[in-house]
Amino acid sequence: MNDIQTKTKIVATLGPSSSDYGTIKKLVESGVTMFRINTSHGTKQEHKEKIKFIRDIEKELNKNIPILIDLQGPKIRVGQIPEPIAIKKGEEVILEHTKEIRNGIIPVDYEGIANDVKIGEKILLDDGKIGLKVTKVCNNQVHTIVEHGSLIKPRKGINLPGAQASLEAVTSQDKEFIKFAIEEKVEYLALSFVRKAEDVKCARYYTKAYGDIAIPIIAKIEKPQAVENLEEIVLEADGIMVARGDLGIEMSPQEVPIAQKTIIEMTNKHKKPCIVATQMLESMLDEPIPTRAEASDVANAIYDGTDAVMLSGETAAGNYPVEAVKMMALISQTVENSRFLKTDYDVDLIEELNPISQAIASSAVNISKKLGAQGILIFTEKGYTPPIISKLKPSAPIIVVTSSQTTARRLNLYWGIFTYIDKNCNEVLDEALFNKIDDLLITRAGFKKGDDIVIVNSVPKLMTGTINTIRVHKIGENQ
Ligand code: PEP
Repeated sequence: MNDIQTKTKIVATLGPSSSDYGTIKKLVESGVTMFRINTSHGTKQEHKEKIKFIRDIEKELNKNIPILIDLQGPKIRVGQIPEPIAIKKGEEVILEHTKEIRNGIIPVDYEGIANDVKIGEKILLDDGKIGLKVTKVCNNQVHTIVEHGSLIKPRKGINLPGAQASLEAVTSQDKEFIKFAIEEKVEYLALSFVRKAEDVKCARYYTKAYGDIAIPIIAKIEKPQAVENLEEIVLEADGIMVARGDLGIEMSPQEVPIAQKTIIEMTNKHKKPCIVATQMLESMLDEPIPTRAEASDVANAIYDGTDAVMLSGETAAGNYPVEAVKMMALISQTVENSRFLKTDYDVDLIEELNPISQAIASSAVNISKKLGAQGILIFTEKGYTPPIISKLKPSAPIIVVTSSQTTARRLNLYWGIFTYIDKNCNEVLDEALFNKIDDLLITRAGFKKGDDIVIVNSVPKLMTGTINTIRVHKIGENQ
C-alpha cells in the first residue's frame, strides 16, 4: 500500500450518511485525512461511537487520523413556532426575544437582539432565503420590513450581518463539548462565529480550565468582522476555516472569492493550517457526479493554497458520501499534477517563529527542488518545523517520523505531510536507522532504491532541540 495519496488534505463531516464503521472505513480508503464532528447535530453518545470507530479504523488501516470537533458557537435561531409563517415583500415582521407564541411576533432565542440591531440594518433568516430590514426598535421588539422571502420556518438560523452582536463567544453547549473533546482526546477544536482574537482567547480559557491548553483551536471565519480582524485572529488561533456557508450569507456572494484568497494568504503567511469549507461538491448530495463549476471551485481553493478542502452535507447527509470523497481526491491529484499549481516557494522569515527552523526549512525545500528529490524527511517530536516546510509547498512529499501519536495525527492536516510513528527511533541517524527508514519509505510510501531524500533533523539528538541539520540520502546507499 502507498500511503502517499493527495497532498491536499480532505476533511469529511460525519452524519447520518456516514456513521457506520463500514462507510467511515470506505471514506478513509477513498482519501479522507481528517473527520469533522459537527456538534450542531447529534448527541454526545453518537459522537463517542463515531470517535471509537475512527480510532479502530485508524489501527486497522495503519493511519494517523485527526478528529475535529466543531463547536456550534453563538448561533441565533427562530423560536419553536408551531408551523411556518407565510410572509410577503413589503409586509411588517416583528422579532422579539420570547418563548411565548403570540400572533404577529416571531420569537427569537437571543435576548440581545433588540440591543444589537439598528434602524436600516439587515436581518437574514434561513441561510439568507429571507431578508428583513430594521425599521424601528422599541419595547424589546425589532420591527422590520420584508425585503425578500416567503416562509419563516421554526428553528431556522438568523444572521445579523451589520450588528456587533454582543453574544458570548463560547456558549454553555460549547463548554460542554470542549470538555467532551478533551476527554475524548481529539486533535482539533473549531470555534464558530469568531469575531475577534479575544473570542479565541475565551475558548482557550475553557480548554485550559478543562485540562488541555494545548488543544489547537481552528477559528471559523464566517463573519465580516472576522475578515476585518483577520490577522489578529490568525495570530491567536492555531488554524483557520474559511466557513463559506455563513460567510456567504453575511457578505455579498461576489465578495467571498476575494475573502477566501485573503484568508488563505494570511493563514499561510503565519504557517497555520487552512481548511476551505462548504458547498464544495453540493450537488453530490443527490447526484453521483459534481457540476463542473464545483470541480473548478475545489481546484481553485487548492490553487489559492489551502491545506485542506472540506465536505459537509455531502458526506454527512448526502446520497453519495464515498463518491464525493473519491471525486475530491481526483480533483486534488489532477490539480497537484498540473503546471498551474505553484510549488517550492521561498518566502521571507516571519517574526513569531524560530529563524533557524525557517531558514533550514527553506534550504531543505531549495535542495529538494535543485536535486529533484523524491521526498523530504523530517524527524520531530513536537512537530514545530513540518508546518513551516509544508507552507513552502514543496513538490516532494514531506515524510514526518515522530514518536508522538498526537503530533502524527495533527500534522496530517497540513498540505503534503505524511506521518509515521516510531517510538523506538535511535537518538542518532546511524546505519541501522537509515536501513529502517529506507524500508519504511519503500514498503509504505512507494519510494524506490536510488531515490534521493532530503533529511532534516536535530543534532545531537535526532528529535529533540531545534532542527539544525540537512543531509541528502540516497535510498539503499547504506546497504
Ligand atoms: C459554514 O458556515 O460554512 C460552516 C462550515 O459552518 P457550519 O458549522 O454552520 O456548517
